[in-house]
Amino acid sequence: MIADRPISELLASKRALRSLEFFPPKDETGVESLRQTATALKRIAPDFVSVTYGAGGTTRDRTAQVSRLLRSEIGFTVMPHLTCVGHSRDELNAVADRLHADGYRNIMTLRGDPPKGQAEFVPFQDGLRYGSDLVALLKARHADFCLGVGGYPEKHPEARSLEVDLDNLKRKVDAGAAFITTQLFFDNAVYYRFVEKCRARGIAVPIVPGIMPVLSLKQIRRFTEMCGATLPEQLIKRLEAAGETPEIVEAIGIEWALTQIRGLLANGAPGYHLYIMNRAKSALTLAAGLAA
Ligand SMILES: Cc1cc2nc3c(=O)[nH]c(=O)nc-3n(C[C@H](O)[C@H](O)[C@H](O)COP(=O)(O)OP(=O)(O)OC[C@H]3O[C@@H](n4cnc5c(N)ncnc54)[C@H](O)[C@@H]3O)c2cc1C
Repeated sequence: MIADRPISELLASKRALRSLEFFPPKDETGVESLRQTATALKRIAPDFVSVTYGAGGTTRDRTAQVSRLLRSEIGFTVMPHLTCVGHSRDELNAVADRLHADGYRNIMTLRGDPPKGQAEFVPFQDGLRYGSDLVALLKARHADFCLGVGGYPEKHPEARSLEVDLDNLKRKVDAGAAFITTQLFFDNAVYYRFVEKCRARGIAVPIVPGIMPVLSLKQIRRFTEMCGATLPEQLIKRLEAAGETPEIVEAIGIEWALTQIRGLLANGAPGYHLYIMNRAKSALTLAAGLAA
C-alpha cells in the first residue's frame, strides 16, 4: 500500500491548495451519486478531499467505504475525519492503526459534537475529552500522521471567549497538529482578524479558510445557528430577494463564495477548503471562475 503524501508537504509548496469536503451518504443510492459527483470533480483535480465522521456505527462504516472509493477508485488524496465521540482510547488506537495500514497519512482530528439529544460533551468511557487529546494520541501512535484540526474564527459555540478558544486551539497545535481548517464564515474580515490573533499567540501553522457556497437560506440559517457563524445582512437580503428559486439562490451563493475566495487568495490564504455538500456544481463553477 502506497502511503499518502502529507498535506503539510503540499502546503509547504506555497501554491494555493484546493480541497473539498464530502459527507458519508445514508445509503447505497447516495454512494452511487457521490461516485458520480467525485468523477465529475476529477476534472478540477483537488489537492485532497476529506470525508466527515458521523456519530454512529453505520455512518462510520460509510466514512471508511467512501474514503476507500475516493482514494482507490477515483484516485484522490483522502483525509478521513475522526472524532472522540463514542470511542475508547483502545478503539481510537485501533482506528489509527487501520487507517495507517491502509496508507492514509492525513487525518482531520476532532473532538466531535455531543450526540443528538445531549447538551454537553461527555467523554466516552476511557475515552478522550478534547481534540488536543486525540491529536496527542494519534501522533504518539504514528508519528508520521499529518493532522488537521478545526479552528473557529467566530469562536467555538461552547467557548467563553475567542481568547480562551484560541488558547485551546494552540493546545492542539502544540500537541502536533500540522494545519488548521476553519469553520465556515462569510465575511473575510473575520478570517483575517482570526489569523492575526492566532499569529500573535504563536500559532504558526497554515490556516486554511473553510468556505460554504450557500444552497438555501433555510439550510444556511440552520448551519450558522449551530456553529455560531454570522450571516452578513447583505447576503441575507440577496438570498431573500431570490425567494424560492433554487437556481438564483445557488448563483448568489457561488458568486459570494467566488468573491470571498478571490479576496482570500489575493491576501495570502494557503488555499481554500470547500464544504460542497456532496455536490459538484459549485466546486466546478468556482474553479472555472478562479481560472478566469
Ligand atoms: C473543519 C471542521 C471539520 C469538522 N468535521 C467534523 C466531523 O467530521 N464530524 C463531527 O462530528 N464534527 C465535525 N466538526 C465539528 C466539530 O466536531 C465540533 O465543532 C466540535 O464541537 C468541536 O470539535 P473540536 O475538535 O474543534 O473540539 P476542541 O478543540 O476539543 O474544542 C471543543 C471546545 O472545548 C474547548 N477546549 C478545548 N481544549 C480545552 C481544554 N484543554 N480545556 C478547556 N476547554 C478546552 C474549546 O475552546 C471548545 O470550546 C468539524 C468542524 C470543523 C471546523
